[in-house]
Amino acid sequence: MESQSLVIRIRVPDGGAVDWSVHSASHLLFRDVLDVIGQVLPDATTTAFEYEDEDGDRITVRSDEEMKAMLSYYYSTVMEQQVNGQLTDPLQIYPRACKPPGKRNIHGLKVNTRAGSSHNSSPAMSDPLASNSLKKSSAELKKILANGQMNEQDIRYQELLGHGNGGSVYKAHHVPSGKILAVKVIPLDITLELQRQIMSELEILYKCDSSYIIGFYGAFFVENRISICTEFMDGGSLEVYRKIPEHVLGRIAMAVVKGLNYLWSLKILHRDVKPSNMLVNTRGQVKLCDFGVSTQLVNSIAKTYVGTNAYMAPERISGEQYGIHSDVWSLGISFMELALGRFPYPQIQKNQGSLMPLQLLQCIVDEDSPVLPVGEFSESFIHFITQCMRKQPKERPAPEELMMKQVSVVILLSLVAFSGPPLYQAVQRWQC
Ligand code: ATP
Ligand code: MG
Repeated sequence: MESQSLVIRIRVPDGGAVDWSVHSASHLLFRDVLDVIGQVLPDATTTAFEYEDEDGDRITVRSDEEMKAMLSYYYSTVMEQQVNGQLTDPLQIYPRACKPPGKRNIHGLKVNTRAGSSHNSSPAMSDPLASNSLKKSSAELKKILANGQMNEQDIRYQELLGHGNGGSVYKAHHVPSGKILAVKVIPLDITLELQRQIMSELEILYKCDSSYIIGFYGAFFVENRISICTEFMDGGSLEVYRKIPEHVLGRIAMAVVKGLNYLWSLKILHRDVKPSNMLVNTRGQVKLCDFGVSTQLVNSIAKTYVGTNAYMAPERISGEQYGIHSDVWSLGISFMELALGRFPYPQIQKNQGSLMPLQLLQCIVDEDSPVLPVGEFSESFIHFITQCMRKQPKERPAPEELMMKQVSVVILLSLVAFSGPPLYQAVQRWQC
């Protein structure tokens, strides 16, 4: 009986759970379970776990012997379900952490240790090949966590939400979880090695946990295209809302600045701040998407789709170094566009998308930055945009995060040179 498959549900401290399909429990060792728990809660040091008996009392497991006792107890409780041919309840375990664990799998997606099994995540199905060592299973678990168990077969595309410079975005149904997703499909002719590199670079997205950043569910390659699965935002992007009144823009800017501060705190530059990458939903949330977490992905897309982004800062258009300040410029020009209802440089006609020939954007480098018309907007809003769109990167507002967190003398000295207020305060001031 103990050679049967079972699902171990690892309950994590925040109330979530990760399901682990074990295909041959007779080979299961105590340290294998700790190994898997270690991958689910990478920041915790777990030395034991618990399960509940019929009275709801917690019993601690610290050895192979205690594991065996737990499994015997579990099989005795599900025997009736098995005899009746029903799906058996999972075995719930509660890791005991020595220090507060970090969160993985924040979206509560289920994990099946059989990599490549696309249709079958049912714990009741047995796999004749799965009696291989559990070591392999737990190594695969990491890979699957990294892939969020997303794959093409589980996804039903519903409608096209829009095209961008790199690919197309679809609304889709993820069958196993019942979630509605947005799936961005980007055709990319790149080597397998580059594909692997992109997948590993995207892993950091699982750790992103901010209500101002789009939720990431997973990514996968099929043939020559990558599919990136994210939270679906039913209000679409700000691009379609055209002219937005200043008092509404203030609240939106607050969310965008919080999102940017969050990314910057993770040392991620957005690199593509623009209205079409600010998404809204009917819960009133504003979230950033399409940030450049994977250098290889950004490079591969740039090689395929030629052109320069009209929201890029002057220093970037002229090929100079890119930094947080460049994201701040893009923030300023985006909000100026949203306030005016048109792109701020009248000589630049954005027809489809935001990529333009480089020569057409030369005016951004050569000319003074545009200024919002006095009288139509509050003084503080005009000031905020003007500060963000300073031609000199260092004169643009600095993220407050940077001021609080960085203590090195070099950085402090360079902060003294900033004439602008911290970005976060700048928005708050305009909002008051
Ligand atoms: P780029 O390719 O440079 O990012 P883009 O932002 O215009 O350009 P896409 O990112 O492909 O293009 O997005 C196309 C459209 O799909 C967006 O304008 C938006 O309306 C919609 N969209 C993108 N992601 C989502 C999402 N998570 N939820 C809902 N709609 C989305
Ligand atoms: Mg986009």
